[in-house]
Amino acid sequence: MSEKKIKVGILGATGSVGQKFIELLTDHPWFEISELAASDRSAGKKYRDAVNWVMQTPLQNEVAEKIVLNCKPTLNSKIVFSALDASVAGTIEEDFAKAGYVVISNARNHRFDDDVPLIVPEINSDHLELVKIQKFGKGAIVTNPNCSTIGLAMALKPLADNFGIDSLNVVTMQAISGGGYPGVPSMDILDNVIPFIGGEEDKMEAEPKKILGTITGKKIEYAKFVVSAQCNRVSVIDGHTECVQVKLKKKTSKDEIINVWNNFSGEPQKLNLPSAPIKPIIYLDGEKYPQPRMHRNLGNGMSVAIGRLREDPLFDYKFVILSHNTIRGAAGGTILIAELMKAKGYLDKHL
Ligand code: NAP
Repeated sequence: MSEKKIKVGILGATGSVGQKFIELLTDHPWFEISELAASDRSAGKKYRDAVNWVMQTPLQNEVAEKIVLNCKPTLNSKIVFSALDASVAGTIEEDFAKAGYVVISNARNHRFDDDVPLIVPEINSDHLELVKIQKFGKGAIVTNPNCSTIGLAMALKPLADNFGIDSLNVVTMQAISGGGYPGVPSMDILDNVIPFIGGEEDKMEAEPKKILGTITGKKIEYAKFVVSAQCNRVSVIDGHTECVQVKLKKKTSKDEIINVWNNFSGEPQKLNLPSAPIKPIIYLDGEKYPQPRMHRNLGNGMSVAIGRLREDPLFDYKFVILSHNTIRGAAGGTILIAELMKAKGYLDKHL
């Protein structure tokens, strides 16, 4: 890896995911935060004055002093991470890609474009080949899945490879930070569960099929299993919990399932990428595990915890997943994509 760090920009730098990008990119061995951009409300201000910093680590002075820019494709950094609100991400990201930038995005807008890969680095790094047929020349758009899809897709991948998946049902208990800052009003969420998150169930039912799909020539052939999802907002700050029931194509034992989860690894581990957890999936034996407060930071927030695997009278098996929504589910997962693209030469034109 070259000694000189790659300059990166962050679009939507003042939001909850934007702040997590800043936290995770501070002292990153390959990338250096060069430019921060957000809405007209923030542009022109020093970052410290534009942001309501809610991360647990202090805001570094060097970043705090940067002037927030508009989200216009005039940045010096040719690699940009997008943490933009979905109401504006679609057009802005496309403008950047057309102008030759590589955009790696958390927003939903381009996830289902035929030529845009939807990447979880451990699962479908081969889908990155789609960027070669995009219409943006040197530019590109690559997307990160929805925060609750990522944990689910990770748990499903070893099952799909080893036993085949017929169908599944998932019920989520999603953290407040998943809705951005300030998110749901405290009067709505304290002492409460809200059984609705706009658009979330559709995303969870569709995204795993693209991620676990197969790249054939110029397109992704979607995986064929059926997903039913119910999504709930609960009074947890970080960490999405998901209860899953799955019907497999090939019958297998509980031990075999735990074994394929525990032995799962992918390209990030093979390439020893800086943000790659040693174990992408950690199976926990405790009968009350996983729990958000205890397990969301496993593998620096990049590992997916699974527990409570047991037989299910309706499907074959049921289990519980926990993953950190703003690290693995957003900024951390996106940075891992950028590391993968760097290691595989997809950023070479921009260095
Ligand atoms: P957020 O806290 O509401 O932040 C939104 C960001 O977008 C802010 O920086 C805001 O800048 C900027 N923005 C809003 N309107 C804009 C405009 N007209 N032009 C330019 N910038 C504008 O949201 P978030 O939770 O960080 O989420 C960011 C994206 O990631 C969303 O698309 C979300 O769906 C996705 N995502 C979030 C999570 C999560 O766990 N939170 C997980 C996965 C994916 P100002 O501060 O200047 O208004």
